[in-house]
Amino acid sequence: MKVALFEKPHQLKVTHKDLRKLNEDEVLVKVTACGVCGTDLHIVEGSSRSSPPVVLGHEYAGIITDVGNEPNGFAPGDHVAVDPNIACGTCFYCRRGDVHLCKNLRALGVDIDGGMAEFCIVPSSQLYRLPSTLTLEQAAFIEPLSCAVHGIDRAQIRAGDTVVILGGGTVGLLMLQLATISGASRVIVVEPVEWKRGIATRIGAFEVLDPTVVKVFECIMDLTGEGADVVIECAGRPETTSLSLTLARRGGTVEWFGVCPLGATVQVEPNSVYFKELTIVGSYVNPHTFDRSIALIAANKISFRDFVIDKFPLDRVHEALKSLAEGKTIKSLIVPTL
Ligand SMILES: [Zn+2]
Ligand SMILES: [Zn+2]
Repeated sequence: MKVALFEKPHQLKVTHKDLRKLNEDEVLVKVTACGVCGTDLHIVEGSSRSSPPVVLGHEYAGIITDVGNEPNGFAPGDHVAVDPNIACGTCFYCRRGDVHLCKNLRALGVDIDGGMAEFCIVPSSQLYRLPSTLTLEQAAFIEPLSCAVHGIDRAQIRAGDTVVILGGGTVGLLMLQLATISGASRVIVVEPVEWKRGIATRIGAFEVLDPTVVKVFECIMDLTGEGADVVIECAGRPETTSLSLTLARRGGTVEWFGVCPLGATVQVEPNSVYFKELTIVGSYVNPHTFDRSIALIAANKISFRDFVIDKFPLDRVHEALKSLAEGKTIKSLIVPTL
């Protein structure tokens, strides 16, 4: 089968790989679509951890074509999404229920062969059954949405809150919709790219700000009076990470969701956190949020209609990564059957 194999930094190759025999609890998934994510870019650049050689791709869905002897009720023909994060189940954190903090966490598409391939072998414990009515675009968004759902849980938005989102890419636009669903009365999106601000406006932002033109702090204070109840950083940049602390009201919550480059640091004046009694939260991957993510998409609560989604066959994986890196698309999807 054809795969996109990450061999070492700056070396991603489209090649052939033989499928091995399925273990008892494994299934074979024919991949229908696999999203390309910032993490994939970081892995290829060598700035994010992985275990090469490995087939990339952790945001994928597909159809089961074969099963091992104990497939946990899954059968050929089932449409499934794949939770790529495999926890050990026995470490200190797993036993507390914090599976995403597992000390032995491994991920499909990072440490084990993932979804940028015609087929992928997946432990049945990582599968979620999907309604067959979901489009391949919808199915490929389940994984990133499940991460955003965990982020929204962590942000603790209350009905009527004003929420500021820094960054209007894939995650920012998902967060905008989730914040609205969670009861935010106003969501303000800060994004330098005009067409991305256009999407944010169309899917319900109360206000969009271009940080290259306006002074974001002054604008947020004008709009909110006291600052935002909740600020969610989705750009993964040190500048926006420190800016986020200034935009929250006293007693507000700041979530650092975006992934800054490894080793990046941010200057924080501790007194600003102390006197404002800020709550700063992190959010990592997607513990126990796949079912809710699928439910939201199946109920059409999350719209991708206005997103710019570009589809690429496996042979053009480099173009797919480039298109995402250059910010030309909200999502690049690898569709192996193209
Ligand atoms: Zn991802
Ligand atoms: Zn564990």
